[in-house]
Order: sequence, then structure tokens, then C-alpha cells
Amino acid sequence: MRGRGPWWHDRFQEYGWRITPSREIIMDVLHNTKEHINASDIYIKAHAMNPAIGLTTVYRTLEMLEKTGMVQKFDFGDGMARYELINNPGAKDHHHHLICMNCKRIIDYTEFIDDEIDFIEKTQSKLSKKYNFKIAGHMINFYGLCEQCSKAMA
Ligand SMILES: [Zn+2]
Ligand SMILES: [Zn+2]
Ligand SMILES: [Zn+2]
Repeated sequence: MRGRGPWWHDRFQEYGWRITPSREIIMDVLHNTKEHINASDIYIKAHAMNPAIGLTTVYRTLEMLEKTGMVQKFDFGDGMARYELINNPGAKDHHHHLICMNCKRIIDYTEFIDDEIDFIEKTQSKLSKKYNFKIAGHMINFYGLCEQCSKAMA
């Protein structure tokens, strides 16, 4: 039997993390954010919901979530790393990324996801057998130049 709480409660339990009010709020913010959000915006939203949440808590929680692959960090070394929740089981919004290395634009795409499922499932089952590894999710990023940047450079 799975818990009645949100899906991340199970994941927290798996990793032996306590479900604290501040972690709960940070997960809520990530969960309800559609765009790729930076830490200070997460902080502003979380802090508004609970003034006890400081920026350090936000960073520490993000680091913890990132280590286990629950959060993807987009870091282009400009001090404005952005974050996105991943591995939300059954998420309708599962997507991949096209990342422009020039303007740092991140394009979410969902086209071809159906084509991918078959391939990913086969690859995952082979990998998990070979490495005896329990795969919980994946992320796919393509790096390059967006249309505007390619045009500007032409
Ligand atoms: Zn995928
Ligand atoms: Zn660009
Ligand atoms: Zn995304």
C-alpha cells in the first residue's frame, strides 16, 4: 500500500528523509511551477508561504533533491541555476530539453515522446539487468543553438 500523501512522500521515505514543513513547501513550489525556476524565485515563493524558510534551507533542499535525481539542475555557470522537478510518476508533463548554449534558453518539448517510450523501456530493462540498477527515471537534453542565435551568428 502506498501512502495517501503526494508522490514524493514515498520517495522521501525511500531515501530516509524526514518530511519537514519546509521541504513540503519547497516541493509544492517546484510541483506548481511550470517554468524552470531559479533558487531565489523558489525562495521568494516558499518564504511567502512560510517566513521561517530561509535561502539556505532552499539551497540545501535543492542540493538534496538533485543528488537523488528528483530535481534537474540547469547550471550554465552564470549564477542563475534553474531547477525543475523530474521523475514525477505518471506525469503528463514529462518532456525533454533543447538547450541553447548561447542564450541559455531551455525549450521543453513533448513531441516524439511516444516514439521514445519503446526505446527507453528496452534500454532501461537492459541497463537495470546489466548493472542491477533500479532506474527511477531519466532526463534527455540536447545542446546546441536556438533558431534566433543561429540566425544572429550566420
Ligand atoms: Zn523521456
Ligand atoms: Zn539561443
Ligand atoms: Zn523542462
